Amino acid sequence: MKNKFLEIKSPIKAMRGLASISVFLVLLSLLACQQEKQVKTDNGPLDVVATTGMIKDIAKVVGGDRIKLESLMGPGVDPHLYKATQGDLGKLTKADVILYNGLHLEGKLVEIFEKLAEQGRAVYAVTEHIDKSRLLASEDVENKDAYPSDPHIWFDISLWMEAVETVRVALIKHDEAGRETYNKNAGAYIQELAALHEKVKADIASIPEGQRVLVTSHDAFRYFGNAYGIEVRGLQGISTVAEFGLKDVSDLVSFIAQRKLRSVFVESSVSDKSLRAVVEGCKARNHNVSIGGTLYSDAMGEEGTPEGTYIGMIKHNVNKIVAGLK
Ligand SMILES: [Zn+2]
Repeated sequence: MKNKFLEIKSPIKAMRGLASISVFLVLLSLLACQQEKQVKTDNGPLDVVATTGMIKDIAKVVGGDRIKLESLMGPGVDPHLYKATQGDLGKLTKADVILYNGLHLEGKLVEIFEKLAEQGRAVYAVTEHIDKSRLLASEDVENKDAYPSDPHIWFDISLWMEAVETVRVALIKHDEAGRETYNKNAGAYIQELAALHEKVKADIASIPEGQRVLVTSHDAFRYFGNAYGIEVRGLQGISTVAEFGLKDVSDLVSFIAQRKLRSVFVESSVSDKSLRAVVEGCKARNHNVSIGGTLYSDAMGEEGTPEGTYIGMIKHNVNKIVAGLK
């Protein structure tokens, strides 16, 4: 979906953003001089920092008790807009291994990760070993330079299995003594994910073909659509940075009314305001469409709940989608 009305940033806001990034980078290089932590030197658990909850979950499963784990972004946090805090600086400087998504998902942190990598720190994008031919090109023409590829790869479980593999290799590289544990944990997890991949295919196929359309707030589900055979439409493009316009709303209203869709879905990390406008628009055209529930798109649920894990998040989404469209 193309965004006709791009967000125009106030110059003061933009400068303030730049200033805080520069301060951050200076602090990082100062701290880096004091502690070059390329290879783990102490005997304590490996200190791992992940950006999103989904990546943290991989590290938790694969690393188990051998690692000490923190993430930067909690439930409901939008990674496209996320800016680093002072607390993040502390976490990043003492980390033995830093894991992030890459493909520009963490748009406002890229500079920091690049800087850390330049300093020889162990920074890994979990998407870095995915074959380029499996990445979906961005359809977002206006953001094409910033987003050459769609970053939401976790919604194709078979691609996420490659991210698990990257984490496994990274953990072994920095904690060779844990090789056996990491191999065992990753192997079991990949088997579980492979089974889930097949189950999701079957569940989505159970929706009548004409109703197999997933309408959401932003284009986070293109990999999901591709892998599991469901058409996807987002009101905003693959990033939430650019705002949607009135034409986007009216185009989507026409599409939903024409296809007589029963449900659209809001996302836990994106405001539901935009989709509520679509529901109202459909009503004005005498087509009743309801909100089929909240999907977890770019962030997982609360820790300690089933949706606070990657597998639980996928199951929740698929259950909502099937119940809303079937
Ligand atoms: Zn997104």
